[in-house]
Amino acid sequence: MPTNILDYPVTYLPNVGATRAKQLRDGMGISTYGDLIQYYPSKHIDRSRFYYTHELTTDMPYVQMRGQILSFEVEGQGRKRRIVGHFSDGHGIIDLVWFNGLQYVERTYKILTEYVVFGKPTLFRERFNITHPEIEPIERFNRTPMGLRPYYSVPEKIQKRGINTRMMEQWVATVFRVIHEPLPETLPEYLVRELRLMPRDEAIRAMHYPQSAEHLSRASYRLKFEELFFIQLNILRYSRERSRRYVGHVFAKVGALFHDFYDHHLPFPLTEAQKRVIREIREDMRKGRQMNRLLQGDVGSGKTLVALMSQLIALDNGFQACIMAPTEILAEQHLDTYRRFLGDMPIRVELLTSSVKGKRREAILSGLKTGEVHILIGTHAIIEDNVLFRNLGMVVIDEQHRFGVAQRAKLWSKNQTPPHVLVMTATPIPRTLAMTVYGDLDVSVIDQLPPGRKPIMTIHHYENRRQELYSGLRQQISLGRQAYIVYPLIKESEKMDLQNLEEGYREFCEAFPDLRISMVHGKMKQVDKDREMSRFVSGETHIMMATTVIEVGVNVPNASVMAIMNAERFGLAQLHQLRGRVGRGADQSYCILVTSFKLSQDTRRRIQIMTETNDGFEIAEEDMKLRGPGDLEGTQQSGIPFDLHIANLARDGQVVQLARDVASRVLDSDPKYDRPEHQAMWQALSDLNRHSVDWSAIS
Ligand code: ADP
Ligand code: MG
Repeated sequence: MPTNILDYPVTYLPNVGATRAKQLRDGMGISTYGDLIQYYPSKHIDRSRFYYTHELTTDMPYVQMRGQILSFEVEGQGRKRRIVGHFSDGHGIIDLVWFNGLQYVERTYKILTEYVVFGKPTLFRERFNITHPEIEPIERFNRTPMGLRPYYSVPEKIQKRGINTRMMEQWVATVFRVIHEPLPETLPEYLVRELRLMPRDEAIRAMHYPQSAEHLSRASYRLKFEELFFIQLNILRYSRERSRRYVGHVFAKVGALFHDFYDHHLPFPLTEAQKRVIREIREDMRKGRQMNRLLQGDVGSGKTLVALMSQLIALDNGFQACIMAPTEILAEQHLDTYRRFLGDMPIRVELLTSSVKGKRREAILSGLKTGEVHILIGTHAIIEDNVLFRNLGMVVIDEQHRFGVAQRAKLWSKNQTPPHVLVMTATPIPRTLAMTVYGDLDVSVIDQLPPGRKPIMTIHHYENRRQELYSGLRQQISLGRQAYIVYPLIKESEKMDLQNLEEGYREFCEAFPDLRISMVHGKMKQVDKDREMSRFVSGETHIMMATTVIEVGVNVPNASVMAIMNAERFGLAQLHQLRGRVGRGADQSYCILVTSFKLSQDTRRRIQIMTETNDGFEIAEEDMKLRGPGDLEGTQQSGIPFDLHIANLARDGQVVQLARDVASRVLDSDPKYDRPEHQAMWQALSDLNRHSVDWSAIS
C-alpha cells in the first residue's frame, strides 16, 4: 500500500475495477487519488436552479429538472431500439431516452416517483429529450449539500462505457473524505502571502466545492498561477544553466565594415524598429554570452537587412557568418539581396545549396575553411558535416519553423564556442505564447513597416462571382502588375487538390488566352519549379498559379494581386502569410479571398478578420482564440504541453507575465537551489518534470 493516500490507485474506490481503472487512465489520465482530485470540474451547476420544460432551448449545455416519469415505452428496431421514459415536471413533458441497458432502466427507475434529472436537452420531433440522463432520487439529492455542484466533463467515449459526472462526483467526494491531512503547499509561503494566493489545499477543494463564484475564481487563479509559474521556472532555469555553460564570442567593436555600409551603402534610412532591434542584437553579442534571439517581424518589415547588418558586426570582429533559408529559391533571393546591398564592399558572399556541386562546391568549402568566404548563404545543405568554417561567429536562421531543433543544434556544434544565433520569423506569435514556446530565447520585434507601403486591400468574393475576379485581374495586369492565384494543398486530399489546381489552370488559360501563366506545385521536379518561379520573378509570366509552395518568403515587388481560392480551407496564419507576398512595392495591392457560399461560423470570422486588419500580431491573437495555442504555426514542434491542466495561454496572458517575473526573481534569490523555504517547491517541480517535458529540447 502506498504511504501517501494521494498515490492510492483508483481501484481502491468503490465500483472501480480493472476495466474502469483502465478507462479512467487511458481516457482521462486518472490513475491515483491525487489525479482524481486534480481532475477539476468543467463547470458547476447551481443546485437551487430547476428548469421547466417551457424554458428549454437547444443551446443549453446542461439542465437540471425535477419531476416524475409517467410511463416507459420501447421504441425503434435493431440498433435504434431504445427505451423512452415520458417525464413530466408538472408543466410539460420531455422524453428521457436510453439506447442500452433497457432492463436495467426499467428495473431501477420507478414511475410516478420524484426524481431530479440532469442532462443536455435536444429537440427531436418537436419534443425535447435528454439522452442517457443522470437521475437521482429526490431524497438523495436533498442529502447532498446545497450550493454549487461540480459537473465533470467525461469524454463521450468513456461516458458510453458508463462513467459519468455523477460517478466522478461520488469518487471525488470519497477521496476527500479519506484525506485527513491538508494537501501540501508547493509554493513558498512568502509568495503565497505576497501574491495573496489561496493556499493549495483550500484551492483544490474549492475547485470542486466552491462557496461562491468568487471563491471558485480565486481558487482557479491560484492553480493557474502555480502551473504557469512552474513552466517559467523550468524555462528560465534551463536557459540560465545554458548561458552559464556556454560562453559566447565577444564582439567588442562595431568596425569599419558596419560603418562603411551604414554611411555609404544603405539605400534608405532604417526604420526606428530596425534600429532598435540592431541595437538589441549588438548588445547581446558584446556581452560574452551566447546570443539566442528570436526576431519577429511581419512580412515585408525588413528583417533581411537587420540580419545583414548584424553579420557585418561579426565580420568586423574577425568572424564569419551564415544565413540559412528554408528553400533554394529563398536562399538565392537572399544572395541577390546581400550582393545588391553590399555592392563593391570587400566581402565575399557565397551560396551553398544541394544544387551547388563539383568544383564550385569544392571552392566554396575550402574558402570557408581558410576564412576567405565571409558570409555563407544556403539551405540546410549548410549543416552537413563536411561544411566547416574557420571561425563561424554568427548564424541567422530565416523562417525557423521549417527547421527542427536538432538541426539547429547541429549548427552550434560547428565550433567550440557556439555562434550567436538569430532566429527570424514572419509568423507572429502572441507575446504570452512566445514567452512560453520560445521562453529561453530573447525576443525582438520589428513592429513597423518601411514607409510608403500602402496597406493591402482584402476583399471577400464568393466563388460564383468569377467574372469579377477576372476583370479585377485583367485591370491590374493591364497596369503592368502580376498576380498570384493560390490553391490549397493538404496531404489528405492531395490528389484532388492538385486536380483543382490543374483545372483552375485550364480555366484561367481560357479566360486569359493572351496572357502567360506559370504553374508551380509540389509534385513537380525541383528544376521545373525553379524555372517557372524565375520566369515569374523576371516578369516573363503574368500570373503565377500555385499550391502553397510559395507561402514563405518569395519577393516579387511587382505582384499586386493575391487571389486565394477555397480560402475557407486555410488557417489565419497561412492566409496572412500568403497575403504578405503582395504589397511589397509602392502600388496598391489586393488580396482576394474566394470562398464557397456555405461557410461555418469560424470561417466567417477568419475571413472577417482578414478583411479588417493587416496586423500580423492582431491576427495571431485572434487565431489563438479561435484555435487554441497548441495549433498555432511554430508551436507544434516546441515540445510544450499545450493542453495545460488549468491555465489557458490565450486567456491568461497576464498570469503568464506575472509567473515569469516571479520565477525570475526566485531564481535570482536562490541560484544554488538551496534556500530552505524553497525546498518543497523544487521538489514539486522535479516531481512534475518526471512526468513531462524534456526542457532541454526546447528552443
Ligand atoms: P522580411 O521581413 O519579410 O524578410 P525583407 O527583408 O524582404 O522583409 O524586406 C522587404 C522589402 O523592404 C525589401 O525590398 C527591402 O529592401 C525593403 N526594406 C527593408 N528595410 C527598409 C527600409 N528601412 N526602408 C525602405 N525599404 C526597406
Ligand atoms: Mg524574409
